[in-house]
Amino acid sequence: MDWLMGFSNDKEKLLKQDTPDFQLRIMHRKSKGKPNGKKPAPEEKKLYLEPEYTKSRITDFEFKELVMLPREIDLNEWLASNTTTFFHHINLQYSTISEFCTGESCQTMAVCNTQYYWYDERGKKIKCTAPQYVDFVMSSVQKLVTDEDVFPTKYGKEFPNSFESLVKKICKYLFHVLAHIYSSHFKETLALELHGHLNTLYTHFILFIREFNLVDPKETTIMDDLTEVLCSSGSGSGGSSNGSGNGSSAGAQNHVKER
Ligand SMILES: [Zn+2]
Repeated sequence: MDWLMGFSNDKEKLLKQDTPDFQLRIMHRKSKGKPNGKKPAPEEKKLYLEPEYTKSRITDFEFKELVMLPREIDLNEWLASNTTTFFHHINLQYSTISEFCTGESCQTMAVCNTQYYWYDERGKKIKCTAPQYVDFVMSSVQKLVTDEDVFPTKYGKEFPNSFESLVKKICKYLFHVLAHIYSSHFKETLALELHGHLNTLYTHFILFIREFNLVDPKETTIMDDLTEVLCSSGSGSGGSSNGSGNGSSAGAQNHVKER
């Protein structure tokens, strides 16, 4: 459970090399085809789309209203508290299946047929397993949300100018983790009877990132089939997720370039 807290010595070392500005200097690249060397598993039936599972939630709460910025609350405060909460919940949800997400079972950070790579602070692409990728995500986010200069909690302390773009990055990587749980560990989640939690968390998260435009819709296209089932109830959602599936790199990475 070392990853849960997100700090191993190696990671500490890695993080220390970061420049003060930020530090999820990680990007991903999509490759629609085969991941290096390893052939993607043949398109399986997506278990998580089965109606008997998608209808499972732990609450019928109207998340669409819940995510809206309450009057009198500062936008950044709202983004900060929600992002931090999602980080903890997604971290926890992943922890329930982390023993099954190993370097052997998940040799790459795959979601359906898309593979994500980690990029270090110098922009160097790092090929890593899914547990390593998740570990990078969680430790980087942990570092950010506990950094008083980025997520200030003290009265009178201002949010940095880069705050919103940092929140966007965090949400993008948290989305990858959620998507990986669905695409690679749904069976285990089912066995643990935690799919209702997962569906609820996913729905809440997606409605939140939509409400504040935090993740490029092209980035989340990969899970649109699920999103539609889980989040469409009464939402309508603008209906413009015509992400053509590929060619997403340019747009999707615009907001990744933190200066
Ligand atoms: Zn995995």
